[in-house]
Amino acid sequence: MGKTSYVIALGSNRRHRRYGAPDKILAAACGALAEHGVELLDVAPTFRTAAVGPAGRSFANGAAHVASALDPVAMLHLLKRIETDFGRRRGRRWGPRVLDLDIILWSQGSWTSRGLTIPHPGFRMRRFVLDPLISIAADWRDPLSGQTIRQLRTRLASRKPVDHRRGAA
Ligand code: AMP
Repeated sequence: MGKTSYVIALGSNRRHRRYGAPDKILAAACGALAEHGVELLDVAPTFRTAAVGPAGRSFANGAAHVASALDPVAMLHLLKRIETDFGRRRGRRWGPRVLDLDIILWSQGSWTSRGLTIPHPGFRMRRFVLDPLISIAADWRDPLSGQTIRQLRTRLASRKPVDHRRGAA
């Protein structure tokens, strides 16, 4: 397979001892993707989202449109590796994860295999995912519902249910 493209969602709600605040962590994660040979086509501005529940800290959420020769499973492995690299803390082999990376969309449409579903199953109902996507992938179509990202975002804001049948209006 030649290069295909992916929309990756990035999130963080902890400080990193080297990179600092969550928005800096997202920028560093994009750098890590590039270091691993992933081509950054477009990077969305970072959104701050208030934390839900008592855990307290606010989130930084972002998104990147990237191109790579990796297939979806290999891309997921790379994302997990980068998450793990960022999650390590001094004195502890496995510290709390400071970075969450998800594959939201793929230029080739849908993918389903053990432990991996594209489009990401929860993304249609998550404003913190859709908001950053608007600036880099507004016209991409969700292969399940046939809706563009812009339409999904508008529907979520007005809380209309999304019909997942292909081609549904
Ligand atoms: P989370 O820690 O909530 O991001 O969940 C990560 C797990 O979700 C991974 O171990 C993946 O196997 C699984 N997963 C399923 N679909 C996706 C996707 N599109 N992107 C990232 N992780 C996924």
